[in-house]
Amino acid sequence: MKITRTIAETRAALAGRRDGAVGLVPTMGALHAGHLALLAAARERSDTVVMSLFVNPAQFGEPADLNGYPREEQRDLEVAREAGVDVVFAPPAAEMYPPGYQTWIEVTELGATLEGEHRAGHFRGVATVCLKLFHVVRPDTAFYGQKDAQQVAVLRRMVADLNLELELVVVPTVRDADGLALSSRNVRLSPEERARALALPRALATGDPETARVILESAGVDVEYVAVAPFDPPTLAAAVRVGTTRLIDNVPLEPRKEES
Ligand code: AMP
Repeated sequence: MKITRTIAETRAALAGRRDGAVGLVPTMGALHAGHLALLAAARERSDTVVMSLFVNPAQFGEPADLNGYPREEQRDLEVAREAGVDVVFAPPAAEMYPPGYQTWIEVTELGATLEGEHRAGHFRGVATVCLKLFHVVRPDTAFYGQKDAQQVAVLRRMVADLNLELELVVVPTVRDADGLALSSRNVRLSPEERARALALPRALATGDPETARVILESAGVDVEYVAVAPFDPPTLAAAVRVGTTRLIDNVPLEPRKEES
Protein backbone atom coordinates (compact mmCIF):
# COMPACT_ATOMS: atom_id res chain seq x y z
CA MET A 1 0.00 0.00 0.00
CA LYS A 2 1.40 3.36 -1.01
CA ILE A 3 0.88 6.43 1.17
CA THR A 4 0.98 9.76 -0.64
CA ARG A 5 1.05 13.22 0.88
CA THR A 6 1.06 15.42 -2.19
CA ILE A 7 -1.08 15.75 -5.31
CA ALA A 8 1.97 15.16 -7.52
CA GLU A 9 2.88 11.93 -5.68
CA THR A 10 -0.70 10.71 -5.96
CA ARG A 11 -0.85 11.36 -9.69
CA ALA A 12 2.51 9.61 -10.14
CA ALA A 13 1.35 6.61 -8.08
CA LEU A 14 -1.74 6.25 -10.28
CA ALA A 15 -0.07 6.94 -13.63
CA GLY A 16 0.68 3.26 -14.29
CA ARG A 17 -2.76 2.09 -13.15
CA ARG A 18 -5.01 3.77 -15.71
CA ASP A 19 -5.63 0.57 -17.69
CA GLY A 20 -7.99 -0.76 -15.01
CA ALA A 21 -10.87 0.78 -13.07
CA VAL A 22 -9.90 3.22 -10.31
CA GLY A 23 -12.22 3.45 -7.29
CA LEU A 24 -12.06 6.29 -4.76
CA VAL A 25 -13.29 6.17 -1.15
CA PRO A 26 -13.10 9.64 0.42
CA THR A 27 -12.84 9.55 4.23
CA MET A 28 -11.91 11.74 7.15
CA GLY A 29 -10.31 8.80 8.96
CA ALA A 30 -11.25 7.37 12.38
CA LEU A 31 -12.26 4.38 10.30
CA HIS A 32 -15.09 2.12 11.43
CA ALA A 33 -17.18 -0.67 9.88
CA GLY A 34 -19.12 1.90 7.80
CA HIS A 35 -15.90 2.92 6.04
CA LEU A 36 -14.97 -0.76 5.71
CA ALA A 37 -18.20 -1.42 3.81
CA LEU A 38 -17.25 1.35 1.35
CA LEU A 39 -13.73 -0.05 0.99
CA ALA A 40 -15.11 -3.56 0.40
CA ALA A 41 -17.48 -2.27 -2.29
CA ALA A 42 -14.58 -0.39 -3.90
CA ARG A 43 -12.30 -3.46 -3.73
CA GLU A 44 -14.95 -5.57 -5.40
CA ARG A 45 -15.55 -3.15 -8.28
CA SER A 46 -12.13 -1.61 -8.92
CA ASP A 47 -8.68 -2.72 -10.02
CA THR A 48 -7.11 0.06 -7.97
CA VAL A 49 -8.61 1.30 -4.70
CA VAL A 50 -7.65 4.78 -3.54
CA MET A 51 -8.71 5.99 -0.10
CA SER A 52 -8.34 9.63 0.81
CA LEU A 53 -7.77 10.44 4.46
CA PHE A 54 -8.29 14.14 5.00
CA VAL A 55 -10.11 16.00 7.77
CA ASN A 56 -11.34 18.77 5.50
CA PRO A 57 -11.31 22.05 7.44
CA ALA A 58 -13.53 23.71 4.80
CA GLN A 59 -16.54 21.58 5.74
CA PHE A 60 -16.43 22.28 9.49
CA GLY A 61 -18.24 25.22 11.02
CA GLU A 62 -17.44 24.99 14.71
CA PRO A 63 -13.68 25.09 15.48
CA ALA A 64 -14.31 22.76 18.45
CA ASP A 65 -15.77 20.13 16.10
CA LEU A 66 -12.75 20.35 13.78
CA ASN A 67 -10.18 20.41 16.57
CA GLY A 68 -11.90 17.61 18.48
CA TYR A 69 -12.36 15.40 15.41
CA PRO A 70 -10.75 12.00 16.17
CA ARG A 71 -7.41 11.60 14.41
CA GLU A 72 -5.74 8.19 14.52
CA GLU A 73 -3.71 7.97 11.35
CA GLN A 74 -1.47 5.02 12.21
CA ARG A 75 -4.47 2.86 13.08
CA ASP A 76 -6.35 4.05 9.98
CA LEU A 77 -3.41 3.10 7.76
CA GLU A 78 -3.35 -0.39 9.26
CA VAL A 79 -7.10 -0.76 8.72
CA ALA A 80 -6.78 0.47 5.13
CA ARG A 81 -3.93 -1.96 4.45
CA GLU A 82 -6.00 -4.86 5.76
CA ALA A 83 -8.94 -3.75 3.61
CA GLY A 84 -6.78 -4.06 0.50
CA VAL A 85 -6.39 -0.36 -0.29
CA ASP A 86 -3.70 0.31 -2.91
CA VAL A 87 -3.08 4.02 -2.36
CA VAL A 88 -3.90 6.22 0.63
CA PHE A 89 -3.83 9.93 -0.15
CA ALA A 90 -3.38 11.72 3.19
CA PRO A 91 -2.42 15.31 2.45
CA PRO A 92 -1.79 18.09 4.93
CA ALA A 93 -4.37 20.91 4.77
CA ALA A 94 -1.93 23.24 2.98
CA GLU A 95 -1.62 20.78 0.09
CA MET A 96 -5.36 21.07 -0.58
CA TYR A 97 -5.76 24.73 0.37
CA PRO A 98 -2.44 26.51 -0.19
CA PRO A 99 -2.10 30.20 0.70
CA GLY A 100 -4.19 32.28 -1.70
CA TYR A 101 -6.76 29.52 -2.28
CA GLN A 102 -10.11 31.07 -3.29
CA THR A 103 -12.13 28.77 -5.56
CA TRP A 104 -15.29 27.12 -4.23
CA ILE A 105 -18.08 24.90 -5.52
CA GLU A 106 -21.57 25.73 -4.39
CA VAL A 107 -24.58 23.49 -5.07
CA THR A 108 -26.95 26.32 -4.46
CA GLU A 109 -30.33 24.78 -3.60
CA LEU A 110 -29.65 21.23 -2.38
CA GLY A 111 -26.66 22.50 -0.43
CA ALA A 112 -28.66 25.14 1.44
CA THR A 113 -31.40 23.03 3.09
CA LEU A 114 -31.41 20.71 6.13
CA GLU A 115 -27.71 20.09 6.96
CA GLY A 116 -26.81 23.11 4.84
CA GLU A 117 -29.15 25.32 6.81
CA HIS A 118 -27.78 24.18 10.18
CA ARG A 119 -24.13 23.98 9.06
CA ALA A 120 -23.56 27.05 6.88
CA GLY A 121 -20.84 26.42 4.29
CA HIS A 122 -20.70 22.68 5.01
CA PHE A 123 -21.63 21.48 1.53
CA ARG A 124 -19.52 24.15 -0.11
CA GLY A 125 -16.58 22.55 1.69
CA VAL A 126 -17.71 19.02 0.84
CA ALA A 127 -18.36 19.71 -2.86
CA THR A 128 -15.07 21.59 -3.24
CA VAL A 129 -12.90 18.94 -1.62
CA CYS A 130 -14.65 16.13 -3.50
CA LEU A 131 -14.20 17.88 -6.85
CA LYS A 132 -10.53 18.42 -6.04
CA LEU A 133 -10.17 14.73 -5.08
CA PHE A 134 -11.90 13.73 -8.34
CA HIS A 135 -9.39 15.80 -10.32
CA VAL A 136 -6.39 14.43 -8.44
CA VAL A 137 -7.44 10.76 -8.46
CA ARG A 138 -9.60 10.72 -11.63
CA PRO A 139 -11.63 7.74 -10.38
CA ASP A 140 -14.07 5.79 -12.55
CA THR A 141 -16.21 5.28 -9.45
CA ALA A 142 -16.43 7.05 -6.10
CA PHE A 143 -18.05 5.35 -3.11
CA TYR A 144 -20.19 7.17 -0.52
CA GLY A 145 -22.34 6.12 2.43
CA GLN A 146 -26.13 6.42 2.59
CA LYS A 147 -25.50 7.65 6.15
CA ASP A 148 -24.78 11.08 4.63
CA ALA A 149 -27.77 11.08 2.26
CA GLN A 150 -27.69 14.81 1.57
CA GLN A 151 -24.00 14.63 0.74
CA VAL A 152 -24.87 12.04 -1.90
CA ALA A 153 -27.69 14.22 -3.27
CA VAL A 154 -25.40 17.28 -3.44
CA LEU A 155 -22.58 15.34 -5.12
CA ARG A 156 -24.92 13.69 -7.65
CA ARG A 157 -26.13 17.17 -8.57
CA MET A 158 -22.54 18.42 -8.92
CA VAL A 159 -21.54 15.42 -11.06
CA ALA A 160 -24.53 16.04 -13.37
CA ASP A 161 -24.18 19.83 -13.47
CA LEU A 162 -20.44 19.80 -14.17
CA ASN A 163 -20.63 16.82 -16.58
CA LEU A 164 -18.13 14.81 -14.57
CA GLU A 165 -17.29 11.39 -15.98
CA LEU A 166 -17.59 9.24 -12.93
CA GLU A 167 -20.13 7.02 -11.24
CA LEU A 168 -21.19 7.47 -7.64
CA VAL A 169 -21.97 4.25 -5.77
CA VAL A 170 -23.95 4.52 -2.54
CA VAL A 171 -23.40 1.93 0.18
CA PRO A 172 -26.18 1.25 2.76
CA THR A 173 -25.74 2.61 6.29
CA VAL A 174 -23.88 0.26 8.62
CA ARG A 175 -25.38 0.16 12.12
CA ASP A 176 -24.37 -1.24 15.47
CA ALA A 177 -26.44 -4.20 16.71
CA ASP A 178 -28.61 -1.76 18.71
CA GLY A 179 -29.50 0.23 15.56
CA LEU A 180 -27.26 3.28 16.03
CA ALA A 181 -25.60 4.25 12.75
CA LEU A 182 -21.82 4.03 13.02
CA SER A 183 -20.17 7.43 13.11
CA SER A 184 -16.71 8.67 14.03
CA ARG A 185 -18.49 11.03 16.44
CA ASN A 186 -20.14 8.19 18.45
CA VAL A 187 -16.99 7.90 20.60
CA ARG A 188 -17.95 11.22 22.16
CA LEU A 189 -21.19 9.81 23.64
CA SER A 190 -21.24 8.81 27.30
CA PRO A 191 -23.00 5.48 28.00
CA GLU A 192 -26.11 7.40 29.14
CA GLU A 193 -26.05 9.60 26.00
CA ARG A 194 -25.57 6.58 23.79
CA ALA A 195 -28.67 4.96 25.29
CA ARG A 196 -30.64 8.17 24.59
CA ALA A 197 -29.24 8.36 21.03
CA LEU A 198 -31.00 5.08 20.19
CA ALA A 199 -34.18 7.14 19.88
CA LEU A 200 -32.79 8.40 16.54
CA PRO A 201 -32.91 5.11 14.55
CA ARG A 202 -36.11 4.17 16.38
CA ALA A 203 -37.77 7.45 15.38
CA LEU A 204 -36.66 7.23 11.75
CA ALA A 205 -37.85 3.63 11.46
CA THR A 206 -41.43 4.93 11.77
CA GLY A 207 -41.04 6.55 8.33
CA ASP A 208 -43.15 9.48 9.50
CA PRO A 209 -41.71 12.90 10.43
CA GLU A 210 -44.36 13.84 13.00
CA THR A 211 -44.19 10.51 14.84
CA ALA A 212 -40.41 10.63 14.65
CA ARG A 213 -40.34 14.10 16.25
CA VAL A 214 -42.54 12.94 19.14
CA ILE A 215 -40.26 9.96 19.78
CA LEU A 216 -37.13 12.12 19.69
CA GLU A 217 -38.52 14.84 21.93
CA SER A 218 -39.89 12.42 24.49
CA ALA A 219 -36.46 10.71 24.61
CA GLY A 220 -34.94 14.04 25.62
CA VAL A 221 -32.73 14.68 22.60
CA ASP A 222 -32.62 18.12 20.94
CA VAL A 223 -34.06 17.99 17.44
CA GLU A 224 -32.42 20.27 14.85
CA TYR A 225 -34.62 18.95 12.06
CA VAL A 226 -36.61 15.88 11.14
CA ALA A 227 -38.12 16.00 7.66
CA VAL A 228 -38.79 14.15 4.46
CA ALA A 229 -35.97 15.35 2.23
CA PRO A 230 -36.68 15.69 -1.50
CA PHE A 231 -33.84 13.44 -2.61
CA ASP A 232 -34.07 10.52 -5.03
CA PRO A 233 -35.54 8.57 -3.31
CA PRO A 234 -37.42 10.72 -0.77
CA THR A 235 -35.65 10.21 2.54
CA LEU A 236 -36.66 10.74 6.15
CA ALA A 237 -33.65 12.58 7.57
CA ALA A 238 -32.88 13.99 11.01
CA ALA A 239 -30.18 15.78 12.93
CA VAL A 240 -30.18 15.79 16.72
CA ARG A 241 -27.94 16.81 19.55
CA VAL A 242 -27.36 14.40 22.40
CA GLY A 243 -25.51 16.42 24.99
CA THR A 244 -22.88 18.25 22.93
CA THR A 245 -22.67 15.57 20.23
CA ARG A 246 -24.47 16.16 16.95
CA LEU A 247 -25.77 13.05 15.19
CA ILE A 248 -27.42 12.59 11.79
CA ASP A 249 -29.24 9.61 10.34
CA ASN A 250 -31.81 8.87 7.65
CA VAL A 251 -33.91 6.16 6.05
CA PRO A 252 -34.85 6.12 2.35
CA LEU A 253 -38.64 5.90 2.05
CA GLU A 254 -38.70 4.28 -1.43
CA PRO A 255 -36.28 2.55 -3.78
CA ARG A 256 -34.24 4.91 -5.98
CA LYS A 257 -35.77 5.71 -9.41
CA GLU A 258 -32.89 6.99 -11.49
CA GLU A 259 -29.68 5.08 -12.14
CA SER A 260 -26.52 7.10 -12.52
P1 AMP B 1 -16.47 10.44 6.97
O1 AMP B 1 -15.12 9.83 7.26
O2 AMP B 1 -17.35 10.58 8.14
O3 AMP B 1 -16.39 11.65 6.09
O4 AMP B 1 -17.20 9.35 6.07
C1 AMP B 1 -16.59 8.85 4.89
C2 AMP B 1 -17.61 8.07 4.12
O5 AMP B 1 -18.08 6.99 4.91
C3 AMP B 1 -18.83 8.89 3.71
O6 AMP B 1 -19.20 8.56 2.39
C4 AMP B 1 -19.86 8.47 4.70
O7 AMP B 1 -21.18 8.58 4.22
C5 AMP B 1 -19.49 7.01 4.91
N1 AMP B 1 -20.03 6.52 6.17
C6 AMP B 1 -19.90 7.09 7.41
N2 AMP B 1 -20.59 6.38 8.33
C7 AMP B 1 -21.16 5.34 7.66
C8 AMP B 1 -22.01 4.26 8.05
N3 AMP B 1 -22.40 4.09 9.29
N4 AMP B 1 -22.41 3.39 7.08
C9 AMP B 1 -22.03 3.54 5.79
N5 AMP B 1 -21.23 4.54 5.36
C10 AMP B 1 -20.81 5.43 6.29
